[in-house]
Amino acid sequence: MMIQQLLDRWKVEFGEVWGAKVGRAPGRVNLIGEHTDYNDGFVLPCAIEPAVWILARAREDTTIRLVSLNYNERHESDLGDLRRGTGSSWSDYLLGVASVFQQEGYALYGWDAVIGGDVPLGAGLSSSAAVEVATGTVLREMFHLPLEDRQLALLCQRAENTFVGVQCGIMDQFACTFGKVDHALFLDCRSLETRQIPANLTTMEIVICDSKVERNLSGSEYNIRRAQCQDGVRVLRVKLGERIRALRDVSIEDLEMCKDSMSDAVYRRCRHIVTENPRVLLAVKALETGDLREFGRLMVESHQSLRDNYEVSCPELDLLVDLAMECPGVAGSRMTGAGFGGCTVSLVERSAIEEFRANMTSRYATKTGREPEIHVTRPGSGAAIVDVF
Ligand code: ADP
Ligand code: MG
Repeated sequence: MMIQQLLDRWKVEFGEVWGAKVGRAPGRVNLIGEHTDYNDGFVLPCAIEPAVWILARAREDTTIRLVSLNYNERHESDLGDLRRGTGSSWSDYLLGVASVFQQEGYALYGWDAVIGGDVPLGAGLSSSAAVEVATGTVLREMFHLPLEDRQLALLCQRAENTFVGVQCGIMDQFACTFGKVDHALFLDCRSLETRQIPANLTTMEIVICDSKVERNLSGSEYNIRRAQCQDGVRVLRVKLGERIRALRDVSIEDLEMCKDSMSDAVYRRCRHIVTENPRVLLAVKALETGDLREFGRLMVESHQSLRDNYEVSCPELDLLVDLAMECPGVAGSRMTGAGFGGCTVSLVERSAIEEFRANMTSRYATKTGREPEIHVTRPGSGAAIVDVF
């Protein structure tokens, strides 16, 4: 469907489609391990089925012509003059990848592209990484770049950090690059070691509920949380020594011992991280042994800690989790993403999904006046070139 839309638009914008390539990269949802990424900790995301698709063809000059289906806009740049903010905001995500590739010494030509997708924009499902990784994947293919997946993901993150100007961690681009059908991706954010965890959900599905609350506070509050974690590390390092490089290195016993040396807020921020990391490891074990009840229990614990200790939830996310846990057939539910809006993720029995959908929609709407957007998915595949011709 999406490919047909891309092809139709291509014909209108650029004519013959001969020689073009299609790259696809999925969105992602984090199952557990929230705000641990910038503390050198563990995360457990999976790719989801919604994705971004890009149809592109190399040119023989240095012109870049981009068309967005979602925005119904066209943008033109030159490879010799890639600067942020010169086009629409969406084009920065594509041009940023080209710019970073060039900085790395990869020789590019111009190209034409049509891009579109069904990852909800700005909902916390990482449509931004999907755009970057889809772009990186198709550029690598078109220009025969000797780039490994890991390097590609890292360069896409760099594009978002330096060109777009958003300080995201590495989870999004890794999940989107390395996603695998029916697997979750365990990522150690310190070593960048990854492990594919078979996610045999049997009769359950992943259900994402978009609160439709804009993540207004998330930028400023995110920076405050990062600073508080650093404050915590500073105190813990003085007390416990050089072995403490990040909250990753701190046990709950360590933290309790130093509790009186830090403010209550800093203590609670640290407490979230220090308990969340072991929860991710337990969740991996639960997934591996097919214990979805336990997995769900850990999701709820994670949510409570994000709500009470890290204080990054909001009434609407709390409500979505509470309502979900009252529905039959739900193993667990939690906010996912940075917080202050965005989505929750729940594990729901397939046979109970229609009831869940109806229940959640009406009860959430009654209490908040907003209609949640509900996506049912399973762990999807990672970025790839798609053979469509
Ligand atoms: P999230 O990654 O949580 O979806 P972000 O704010 O990080 O939210 O990224 C959203 C931005 O990414 C959009 O505002 C847009 O600029 C860009 N983007 C996402 N999806 C697309 C798309 N399909 N086409 C063009 N640009 C997109
Ligand atoms: Mg993003």
